[in-house]
Amino acid sequence: MKAALFTAFRSPIAVEEVAEPECPRDGAVVRVRACGVCRSDHHAWIGLDPDVSAPHVAGHEFAGVVEETGPDCRRWKKGDRVTAPFILACGECDDCRGGDPTVCNHQHVIGFTGWGAFAERLAVPHADFNLVHLPDALGFAEAAGMGCRVTTSFRALVDRAQVRPGEWVAVHGCGGVGLAAIMIATAIGARVVAIDINPEALSMAKALGAEATLDARGVADVGLAVRELTGGGAQVSLDGLGVTETFHNSVRSLRKLGRHVQIGMPLGKHMSPSVPLLEAVYSRQISILGTRGIAASRFSALLGLIEAGRLDVSKLITKRIELDGVGAAIAAMDGYTGVGITVADRIG
Ligand SMILES: [Zn+2]
Ligand SMILES: [Zn+2]
Repeated sequence: MKAALFTAFRSPIAVEEVAEPECPRDGAVVRVRACGVCRSDHHAWIGLDPDVSAPHVAGHEFAGVVEETGPDCRRWKKGDRVTAPFILACGECDDCRGGDPTVCNHQHVIGFTGWGAFAERLAVPHADFNLVHLPDALGFAEAAGMGCRVTTSFRALVDRAQVRPGEWVAVHGCGGVGLAAIMIATAIGARVVAIDINPEALSMAKALGAEATLDARGVADVGLAVRELTGGGAQVSLDGLGVTETFHNSVRSLRKLGRHVQIGMPLGKHMSPSVPLLEAVYSRQISILGTRGIAASRFSALLGLIEAGRLDVSKLITKRIELDGVGAAIAAMDGYTGVGITVADRIG
């Protein structure tokens, strides 16, 4: 089969012939129809993600059709339209059985701990637990665009921060995940202030429902500016980048008893930022919450928002490419240029 492969970190990503994936006994092989290009793929390509070793095929936001099932897979059959969370869990440990597969100790992370979905086919282990049925009305590109960024934002806002209608949500960083968060927060009736340094991203944030935007360039104290814009601070604030500065800005944006959610993955020099423990966590009683991925069982609530017409994922997709365009799309992420989500939707 064909896959977009790199043989060393930062070496050109080229479409090559690679071995077919083997179908696990309890798994399925999915023919990939679309896969989103995410900043985490860039992290994988440049060698920043500790789980990745070269040669490697990235890609973790896929949608496709079941092509083969193993003898122990019961729920799925050839032809089913599916997606899956990028954290594939074992389905059997206490965390998985307790409803928290995103912290499963036996997790397999598509496109990181193993090869990903910038390929014609992908093997999904423990398919009964991990695969998610796609409604017929949702296109493959939209479903792929939903993976990772929309699902991560949904878990951050709904499951972790438990955002309520009327609350202010500050979104620091309007890349794919930030824009997705803006759409979801708006869909559930929250008020959004979007912060970025790219005017194009801010105008897209506005178009997707942000009530206020803040261009952080030249603003000395972003947190204070957000507190002023929101009449005292946001109840919920998200760091969509995983950068020390946006983390600090996010915590500082909050009003008393506010909830910060760390969405962006902090890597390299951003792994251990200082925390204003006395001022923010102790005195203002702010919560610092983590989030990563989503449980397969939570897709139904998110798909419900989409089916009810309250969330239109297609608005996030700004570019559609072929498999051989994946390398250029990932390499372009060396800078913070471009807005919205790029999806490879002509894989095979
Ligand atoms: Zn991603
Ligand atoms: Zn597990």
